[in-house]
Amino acid sequence: MKKFGGSFAVTALVTAMSVSGIAQAGVTDKDIMQDQMTVEDVVSNGMGPRGQRYSPLDMINADTVQDMRPVWAFSFGGEKQRGQESQPMVKDGVMYVTASYSRVFAVDTKTGDELWEYNARLPDGIMPCCDVINRGVALYGDLVIFGTLDAKLVALDAKTGKVKWKKKVADYKEGYSITAAPQVVNGKIITGVSGGEFGIVGKVEAYDATTGKILWTRPTVEGHMGYIWKDGKKVENGISGGKAGQTWPGDLWKSGGAATWLGGTYDPDTNSLFIGTGNPAPWNSHMRPGDNLFSSSRLAIDPDTGKIKWHFQTTPHDGWDYDGVNELISFDYKADGKTVKAAATADRNGFMYVLNRTNGDYIRGFPFVDEITWAKGLDKNGRPIYDEAFRPGNPTVTEDGKKGSSVRAVPAFLGGKNWMPMAYSQDTELFYVPSNEWAMDIWNEPTAYKKGAAYLGAGFTISPMNDSHIGVLKAMDPKTGKEVWRYQNYAPLWGGVLATAGNLVFIGTPEGYLKGFDAKTGELKYQFNTGSGIVGSPITWKQDGEQFLSVLSGWGGAVPLWGGEVAKRVKHLNQGGSVWTFKLPKS
Ligand code: CA
Ligand code: CA
Repeated sequence: MKKFGGSFAVTALVTAMSVSGIAQAGVTDKDIMQDQMTVEDVVSNGMGPRGQRYSPLDMINADTVQDMRPVWAFSFGGEKQRGQESQPMVKDGVMYVTASYSRVFAVDTKTGDELWEYNARLPDGIMPCCDVINRGVALYGDLVIFGTLDAKLVALDAKTGKVKWKKKVADYKEGYSITAAPQVVNGKIITGVSGGEFGIVGKVEAYDATTGKILWTRPTVEGHMGYIWKDGKKVENGISGGKAGQTWPGDLWKSGGAATWLGGTYDPDTNSLFIGTGNPAPWNSHMRPGDNLFSSSRLAIDPDTGKIKWHFQTTPHDGWDYDGVNELISFDYKADGKTVKAAATADRNGFMYVLNRTNGDYIRGFPFVDEITWAKGLDKNGRPIYDEAFRPGNPTVTEDGKKGSSVRAVPAFLGGKNWMPMAYSQDTELFYVPSNEWAMDIWNEPTAYKKGAAYLGAGFTISPMNDSHIGVLKAMDPKTGKEVWRYQNYAPLWGGVLATAGNLVFIGTPEGYLKGFDAKTGELKYQFNTGSGIVGSPITWKQDGEQFLSVLSGWGGAVPLWGGEVAKRVKHLNQGGSVWTFKLPKS
């Protein structure tokens, strides 16, 4: 535990051990906050609330990983397989994992035997923009909680899979859905919503994790009021909500997007929820002059009240669908003898940002993809310096008013980085960023908001930039912005990264491989083909003295649905739906 301080880590571990002597019901708040250090379970999305996806385990390491082999694989079954983007959780010998079409499975971690399955009955009219995926559960007490494609939160009994409570978060008929893993902070279950392509209004909400009662709601489009529930009464909580129309023209804030579709991370140091927001709606930026707060931003939210403490907007007046949802990962580093409380995020727009996590101040930013056309760089506050030649043109100034001038923008709207989470190693002090090199031709068209209909006002085709690769896994130094090493992959990378104290970095590929790299040099140390593309996030944990590693296999997600020329490159890849578990042989 280098970066978060040896003494803190040791004290926390001792506390955890003394507490675990008392009989408790299931997963506690303390279990979640200390998840990264307690290697025998995985009870948070991100392998710890900060989302570093770093494990102190080192039995599987750069020297031993060659011997790692599968011990079991579990199939999700079903006729429709589709993308499997979930991160499994592990607690007391049971794995809790979600699958496509809002399914949850409990699996015996020793044998791979199914303990129970929950299958949400979804209505016909659901509107997920980018495949019927789900990214995982939250655990709290004896509950397994997840969000569904019809925008509900469902809490299941961890022992039986029976429904304990169910809440409607938003109306799926308006285009809302939930695909992110919810997050538990101090007894509250926190969720965002998807739907930015349908002109919904993004929001973050907190519910009592035990009962499902709503505690606060925080819309993420400026002008919408937030509320907190006190003694069953709804009270206004508008602080930092902004006034209507300040950064939006006319009534466009009423359908402004800024979907919080990837959930978030939590920093116990500053008691902040970090949640990103997606594109402003519609994509056609000429319809909405202004910065369009709080779209394409990172928000620091007080988990007790839902108030926005600060925001950092990565793409003001976004015109390229550069959703700012990517995870903001807290980490500390030393500069001039002082500890900097930082947080880093790699944005869909191609720039990586290091912020002061106590107040959102910009520290530095740098590109993490090879070529960016839409901006010439970042100014001293981290605001993009636009190249207006690369903003798709205004259709209303053309002769027939039907199609604005087309531009070739890089990165493509699927992003220098999309949903797939990066990892931070406390040993190498590097971020491992799953990125993609692709371009798009994009143009604007007239559009109007209609409830439950796509609200883009844009057309596009996406294409690769290199014959040899689209995906690039990059080791980035957050202190300098330098690339330390890279691994290039033919297909786009769409799965999360795991870093371990074994000097290893793991990621899966659409070609089906789980790959392990030397964290310092990038040398390929391990690969195993799981039979379908990997678009999930690996985890590792310890059980009966052995280190285990699990990852989902099942090709899908946004690329084959939205990917233009890129989709042609991956059309030979086969679907699947399973979770694989690995370990070293006993000897
Ligand atoms: Ca743990
Ligand atoms: Ca979007």
